[in-house]
Amino acid sequence: MLQAGIVGLPNVGKSTLFNALVANAKAEAANFPFCTIEPNVGVVAVPDERLEVLAKLSHSEKIVPTRMEFVDIAGLVKGASQGEGLGNQFLANIREVDAIVHVVRCFDDDDIIHVSGSVDPARDIEVINLELALADLSQAEKRLERARKQVKGKKEGQEEIPALEAIVAALNEGIGARHVELTEEQEELIKSLGLLTRKPIIYAANVSEDDLAKGNEWVEEVKKIAAKDNAKVVIVSAQVESELVEIPEEEKTDYLEALGVKEGGLKSLIKATYELLGLRTYLTTGPQETRAWTIQAGMKAPQAAGVIHTDFERGFIRAETVSYDDLVTYKTMNAAKEKGLVRSEGKEYVVQEGDVLLFRFNV
Ligand code: GDP
Repeated sequence: MLQAGIVGLPNVGKSTLFNALVANAKAEAANFPFCTIEPNVGVVAVPDERLEVLAKLSHSEKIVPTRMEFVDIAGLVKGASQGEGLGNQFLANIREVDAIVHVVRCFDDDDIIHVSGSVDPARDIEVINLELALADLSQAEKRLERARKQVKGKKEGQEEIPALEAIVAALNEGIGARHVELTEEQEELIKSLGLLTRKPIIYAANVSEDDLAKGNEWVEEVKKIAAKDNAKVVIVSAQVESELVEIPEEEKTDYLEALGVKEGGLKSLIKATYELLGLRTYLTTGPQETRAWTIQAGMKAPQAAGVIHTDFERGFIRAETVSYDDLVTYKTMNAAKEKGLVRSEGKEYVVQEGDVLLFRFNV
């Protein structure tokens, strides 16, 4: 399963957010830097309103959402790339994730110690991004040196050198590796480096409950910085989300309404992270269950079938396909079929977001 790693300075609300993400996760939030040292992995259901709608149409007994994983990576501090505060260990943990959720403190609270003494998103982001860049620089330089020795006089692998040179040059100028254009071959050659500044990133601006509806100046600062990386910003309130976990279901709507919002930001964050990972959802529906399945963007029908069961992939014949919108408009598969909206797709069909599929296969 693809994983998103939650990073940020200490005391910005990472653990609070993570605990809310996986309500039963064990990471403890406490007003103390370094309170979470081991990386924590949580499996989270991906919210999808379409499931309820389809389940009603099919009179499904149950709904099964698809899932993704978040890892709480605590303890990134200034100097981490030099080994400060268990830095190297944290950086290694980030190297293994597929995308980064960078939590930025955009709330003021005198009771919560700020590691640098004041709330300042621009400085905080710079501290973290600099550590990530320095860690990448040292990795890339080492690899470049090795590559130069290894490929001397050989044809193969030559492409790696200009790629690494471009990356080192960019990092030296304070530009993230994600801004370096590489060929597919080069991409493949440097993949195992797990460059931190080449991973897709999203910023989670953690605000107080009063700022959830409209954001604040700090959020605007985060947006400006994120725009330079073409990265998305999601406003979230870890505090609100952690309170939502505690209060009874029937009181939740009132609580959120009083704050002028529909949710605390967590759902949006999960959805945005799912997209950031390049993931897509197709749906299956019937009397037994309505279910969401995760595929990589661009996956073809047999591989998509293989997500359900390897037999489905091996014996794949065709996929009866209708878009979610068409099915909802005409209510039943038969009615959609009469309108010519159910297609029978073969092995080369690229499954689209929101396709409702029924696989035909040989056993
Ligand atoms: P981490 O070190 O980034 O994992 O931060 P924690 O999640 O442990 O949070 C540090 C402290 O800040 C805890 O006491 C949280 O309750 C508090 N905190 C987290 N998010 C918010 C928020 O949105 N508003 C306020 N006022 N406090 C928060």
